[in-house]
Amino acid sequence: MIPFSAAANHRMQETLKFDTQVFLRKFDVKVIRHAVTSPDGKLLVFSAAGYLWKKELPNGKPVRVTNDRDFEFEPAFSPDGQSIAYVTWNDETQGTLQLLKLSGGQKQKLNTSPGIYRTPSFSADGKNIVYRKEAGNGHQGYINGKNAGIYTVAVSGGEAKKVCDEGEYPRFSAGGDRIFYQTGGNLFGPLSKSFKSVKLDGSDLKVLFTSKYGNQFSPSPDNQWIAFTELYKVYVTPMPMGGQATELSGGTKSVPVTQVARDAGINLHWSADSKELHWTLGDRYFTEKLQNRFSFLEGAPDSLPALDTVGLEIGLKLTSDVPRGTIAFKNARIITMKGDEVIESGTIVITGNVIKSVGKNSQVKIPADARIYDLKGKTIMPGIIDVHAHVGDFRYGLSPQKSWYYYANLAYGVTTSHDPSSNSEMIFSHSEMIKAGNMVGQRLFSTGTILYGAEGDFKAVVNSLEDTKSALRRTAAYGAISVKSYNQPRRNQRQQVIEAARQLGILVVPEGGSFFYHNLSMVADGHTGVEHNIPIAPIYNDVIQFWKNTKTHNTPTLIVNYGSVNGENYWYQHTNVWEKERLMRFTPRAVIDGRSRHRTMIPEEEYVNGHILTSKSLKKMQDNGININLGAHGQLQGLGAHWELWMLAQGGMSNHQALKCATINGAVYLGMDKEIGSLEPGKLADMIVIDGNPLKDIRTSEKVMYTMVNGRMYEAEHMNEVGNNPSKRGKFYFEQEGSGNGWPMISGVQSYFVPGCICR
Ligand SMILES: [Zn+2]
Repeated sequence: MIPFSAAANHRMQETLKFDTQVFLRKFDVKVIRHAVTSPDGKLLVFSAAGYLWKKELPNGKPVRVTNDRDFEFEPAFSPDGQSIAYVTWNDETQGTLQLLKLSGGQKQKLNTSPGIYRTPSFSADGKNIVYRKEAGNGHQGYINGKNAGIYTVAVSGGEAKKVCDEGEYPRFSAGGDRIFYQTGGNLFGPLSKSFKSVKLDGSDLKVLFTSKYGNQFSPSPDNQWIAFTELYKVYVTPMPMGGQATELSGGTKSVPVTQVARDAGINLHWSADSKELHWTLGDRYFTEKLQNRFSFLEGAPDSLPALDTVGLEIGLKLTSDVPRGTIAFKNARIITMKGDEVIESGTIVITGNVIKSVGKNSQVKIPADARIYDLKGKTIMPGIIDVHAHVGDFRYGLSPQKSWYYYANLAYGVTTSHDPSSNSEMIFSHSEMIKAGNMVGQRLFSTGTILYGAEGDFKAVVNSLEDTKSALRRTAAYGAISVKSYNQPRRNQRQQVIEAARQLGILVVPEGGSFFYHNLSMVADGHTGVEHNIPIAPIYNDVIQFWKNTKTHNTPTLIVNYGSVNGENYWYQHTNVWEKERLMRFTPRAVIDGRSRHRTMIPEEEYVNGHILTSKSLKKMQDNGININLGAHGQLQGLGAHWELWMLAQGGMSNHQALKCATINGAVYLGMDKEIGSLEPGKLADMIVIDGNPLKDIRTSEKVMYTMVNGRMYEAEHMNEVGNNPSKRGKFYFEQEGSGNGWPMISGVQSYFVPGCICR
């Protein structure tokens, strides 16, 4: 070691920091799923916050289509516009395929057995419906998942006929004698999508076109045109119906192709006369006439108008869930996270979802109508804020009524999750369902889909400020408060993301990528934080001096430590995870057994020189005012957050400091510290009751007795709601008969695939 000093000057950008509103009594619904327009163009029907809504165009107020409790998705209009077909989901009775008369509301169930039903679509004569039966997934389970595939059924009912095993988004051809479908999945799929057609009996397979990045292929009712997305943007081109499969792309020169959406679009669908395309982005509804985009079409104006970038506001507003009544916790040790404040033998009073008072027992008056809990010997602290969580919404599909991912987090005291890599449509829809009280879960924030700098059908091509502004606009349209700049190779690309974010008021949480030089340029360029640890340890004073001059945080995720084995291995090696009853109650056995029973044993020194050495540097950073956040990376929902907490303490941080990283630091990071992160009057009622004192023994943190999120109180052992609004939790799919403990049965062999996030 040759100690030395050097004089250096660095130009540092102001760190991107914006306040984020956590709770609103009423909120605008941003995630409009599965939107379809009636053949007469007068009615829009869509799924939002779990249910179907109808809106009279252009300015009607959206109203529920039914009053049912089962979730409702993927509506389709009959050609006469009198009925819709749609699918439902119930965690215990599973899904149905419904046919509903819009006037009068009579319903007819078309499926004869339970299962996961998807994407119904009518034949042009209205006599038949084609749909998909899904095999299953890690959220809804695999019960009744056999014989998955595409089916047709008569509107008058009767036995369904199987068409084929593969394919998604099936539709009848205009003539009704063939079925179109696509393969290759939704976002995050292979770079080889195909659009195919078969006869109704599944024979005579034809591949009409393939596409590397194309998706959401939507043929016009007259089959003359195809609309599609490519890297988020929306295009239209004549439908390739030739013998030879062609490659479809927005950049193709061989056939006319036009871009219709500036930033992005989903729910692509056509007017009945095939002359207009509709789509949505966030809570905006767009319609474009083909003649305004193709000058060779009859009726086209001399000069084609600019793209519509505003659309029509759909305007669904929902009331946020707030529990009734008052609760008082007394005689508890309270770690408020207001500075170093610890109240021994204190009282907290909560009314609705707000903390009314906190203080010594003697100083706090308990209202007469309060439900009182004597918590002598227990510790109360703010709920854990996991700023780098992956909560399973990386997939695309229907939403379960109960997500075991969310329940596992709440059962272990995580009351806020920020997911920096997810499927925008899924995670923001779930965030709204939780806000509306249609789903139980922690507060859910996300960057949505990452701004990916490498290859993939979801990559974000960044070569200008306009590119980055477009990427941020389409992400913010879903309600994102932050974006994940992910391995954009050039520094100027990352700076373009920062500049766009500065202009649009969005946080930027970049992927660290195990690249020391990228990380320091991220700090200098004003990134809100750096996700994942700096891949070197120990960190010397130059980095500390450099970094402490900014407000940039670090989320080390020691659980997946860069530069060493993952910290999670330490806990699989030193604890019998499969014996954790609470964890097993909220997690499919398949997820735990494979990972914990057959565990990797690693020499201790690799941990000492691995995540523990990193953790020592984190103490140094935190001691110098560089805020460290807790991020459990979705490695193990719930318990993983405690592993991360304990690893922060392994580097020498005081238990109190480590607990701050898990609470107030995360709130500051996300701009939410006015409402969450500490226990103070006026703040939101997110707290946990621990059976022990984590200030003394940090490992007692996992002994969560009660979790309160937004004022709703749950006994953490079974996650039944208690307090003033008691209710018993329903069963997850893996608790039901025939679920096989959640082991997926795929073609007879038992196998399991744990979807990893694009983060490691
Ligand atoms: Zn990640």
